[in-house]
Amino acid sequence: ASRYRGLRVLVAGAGVSGRSAAEALLAVGAEVTVTDGSADRLAALASLEAQGAQLVPGLDAPPQGTDLVVTSPGWRPEAPLPAAAAAAEVEVIGEVELAWWLDQEKPEGPSTWLAVTGTNGKTTTVSMLESILRAHGEDVVACGNVGLPVVDAVRAGHRVLAVELSSFQLHWQQALRPKAAAVLNLADDHLDWHGSLETYGEAKAKIFAGNEVAVFNADDEWSTRLVAAAQARHVAFTLGDPADGQLGVAGERLVDRAFGDDEVLAQLSEVRPAGPHNVANALAAASLARAHGVSPEAVAEGLRTFEPGAHRSVVVAESAGVSYVDDSKATNPHAADAALRAHDSVVWIAGGLLKGAEVDDLVRANAGRLATVVLIGRDRGEFTAALGRHASDVPVHEVAAGDDAGMLEAVRLAHGSARPGSVVLLAPAAASMDMFTDYAHRGRAFADAVRAVLSETPAAT
Ligand code: ADP
Repeated sequence: ASRYRGLRVLVAGAGVSGRSAAEALLAVGAEVTVTDGSADRLAALASLEAQGAQLVPGLDAPPQGTDLVVTSPGWRPEAPLPAAAAAAEVEVIGEVELAWWLDQEKPEGPSTWLAVTGTNGKTTTVSMLESILRAHGEDVVACGNVGLPVVDAVRAGHRVLAVELSSFQLHWQQALRPKAAAVLNLADDHLDWHGSLETYGEAKAKIFAGNEVAVFNADDEWSTRLVAAAQARHVAFTLGDPADGQLGVAGERLVDRAFGDDEVLAQLSEVRPAGPHNVANALAAASLARAHGVSPEAVAEGLRTFEPGAHRSVVVAESAGVSYVDDSKATNPHAADAALRAHDSVVWIAGGLLKGAEVDDLVRANAGRLATVVLIGRDRGEFTAALGRHASDVPVHEVAAGDDAGMLEAVRLAHGSARPGSVVLLAPAAASMDMFTDYAHRGRAFADAVRAVLSETPAAT
């Protein structure tokens, strides 16, 4: 009989992963209660009631007799519910931890987990990894923070899981032991949640528990620091010429000097979208794939067939020598830095919610490539101050209006100042929720605005 039969579990948070956790727990015979601060969100799970779940809005402590709490990753440890659970000595885990537990009990044996975390590049890397493993003939799926809950991937029975883990998810991890894991990079993002870069790093470092291979970025200070504690074979990737034990770039090629002698994996030109950060992501994906025994040919094939994700350095239009690039997914300064560095002359649309991050380094490092800046969103003041300090000769426009109308005005201003050879780049360096529902909405608003503005203005000659 399942160890979950009759277990009293409280699922905290009725989002996508909460629903999957509740369904999985019901399927193994647990007694499930689901709570959410929002009664509307909870109502979306009404179909679970027929399967025996209880839906209780607004709980701020686990009901008497609760054996386990499965929390949504967004919940802070000091929020009332997790704090009350801890005080009552009820175990609190995340949906990914639950997925790991369920995976260990599968009759056909557990799947292979290959895991990725970092501040930026996670989704791109697990998607590249998925593509590479498919080329190798594996039954693999990308899951986790990328969209598909890990619980669902486990229940679907995939033999290899390319798991994207956020620092929030890792905070709620305990037993997770991926076969190979990578920390891509670490920069100040989500400091409002974690409190400091150190505690943020501690959460990320949990990915390095019990691996066979621990993959790190030799070009990133924090990734290099975090791997030091990993009791595993260390493998580094670098954008430079790789030393022994590393993957990296030699001339125009991605090469592997860790798992192979001097194995060529792919041509630099085969990595898409172009740009150093995607080369780093490709090398990280290749490192994990090679740790799993994938051939160099399959790495090349997987990178060739990889479909780049929406809102990640996507060219949405080209007109009169100007490219319009949507990198709405650049939701923090570190990501925006990568997006800016891929171009020489940029009309930069930036701004939104900074979540406690600073933009001084970003502006200083990229001052030379900024032709004009158009600022949107709530934290514009932080940007104007930094631009005043480090790029005082760059013209700056500010747009106060919110949502799609604000984006239209921003694109109109950007279009008006763009010269042939420059790029109008949406790389906000900030979260979108002050103006939009999410980064995808922001990216669509940008693409729509670009089409509207280009259709109203005859192309310059
Ligand atoms: P995540 O899943 O970690 O948010 P994505 O793969 O979705 O990362 O990429 C988000 C954005 O981060 C991209 O649009 C790009 O601006 C930037 N980015 C991607 N990879 C890297 C990297 N290796 N280093 C820095 N920035 C990156």
